[in-house]
Amino acid sequence: MSEAPDSPTIPSPLPWQREQWQRLGAQWRAGRCPHALLLSGPEGLGKRRFAEAFAALALCEQPRDGLACGGCRGCRLWQAGSHPDFLRVEPEKPGAPLKVQQIRDLGGFVSRTSGREGARLVWLAPAESMNVNAANALLKNLEEPSAAVIFLLITDAPAGLLPTIRSRCQSVSFPPPQRPVALRWLQESGLDETAADRALLLAGGTPLRALQLADPQASETRAQFLSDLTALASAEASAVMVAGRWEAPPEGSDLSQLLTFWQHWLAQMLRARSCDLTADPHIMALLQRLPGGEEAALRPLFAFYDHLLQARQALVGGANPNKRLLIEELMIRWAKLYA
Ligand SMILES: [Zn+2]
Repeated sequence: MSEAPDSPTIPSPLPWQREQWQRLGAQWRAGRCPHALLLSGPEGLGKRRFAEAFAALALCEQPRDGLACGGCRGCRLWQAGSHPDFLRVEPEKPGAPLKVQQIRDLGGFVSRTSGREGARLVWLAPAESMNVNAANALLKNLEEPSAAVIFLLITDAPAGLLPTIRSRCQSVSFPPPQRPVALRWLQESGLDETAADRALLLAGGTPLRALQLADPQASETRAQFLSDLTALASAEASAVMVAGRWEAPPEGSDLSQLLTFWQHWLAQMLRARSCDLTADPHIMALLQRLPGGEEAALRPLFAFYDHLLQARQALVGGANPNKRLLIEELMIRWAKLYA
């Protein structure tokens, strides 16, 4: 993997994707690559980048050491972002569903004959954002695969896909890397040891998320969210008003991320009561403010944690809930914990 081409625009797999890369690379070289792959695993592990790296490899005319060469005609077209045999399918805007028309539009790409001999690749993410009609339209393509076409479906939530789609794909799963591997990569990406450590913890062990979280803008958004939750806990703000502010979070973050932080803070509260760690003072303040003493508030706190979990699953699982109602309900329940 240290043999990655120098060109920044030819993607290479990440250090923790070695095993998946080698397995798929071997299938590819042997001419046994499946027509559909489902890349799944938690957000923040670089599945999209892996799919791009694989597409670049498949379109390269002279791969070297199992990677795209960076210099051939195929690689140059890739670098220019105009390879005619690569198609990216994603929602028109983040969080929107993938529409049936977008899948139908694939028809031309899938059925045409390539100008060259070789594979054509369809990169599709997030796969769980296909609605039922879109998924059924895709299923037709998967049921009658065109010899030269490879579908790369990418998802953080495979349970949100039709089982019939899952069963027609070879699954490639991405678990979070070993901690030292992730920390080394974060430090190579410019974080110091403490920042890397903290960000990785907050990101649940997923390195790309950790790198995003270490961004100052993201930290600021998080601090503001916690500050609003604290204001609710001390009845200094109304649940409806706070919900209105966070229904559409600032650029660079999204609601499901914020709910993940909230879960993380709750977990800290629940841990801090059983064995006092050197918890964040803001979190300790939230804990101490609970009415009726910490013990009495334990059960509602657990119940709230479950609500949060369900709300987040609804958001990421492709159920497409009403965000305003969802966040408002959570804020009201949160405020009630402190009433
Ligand atoms: Zn090449």
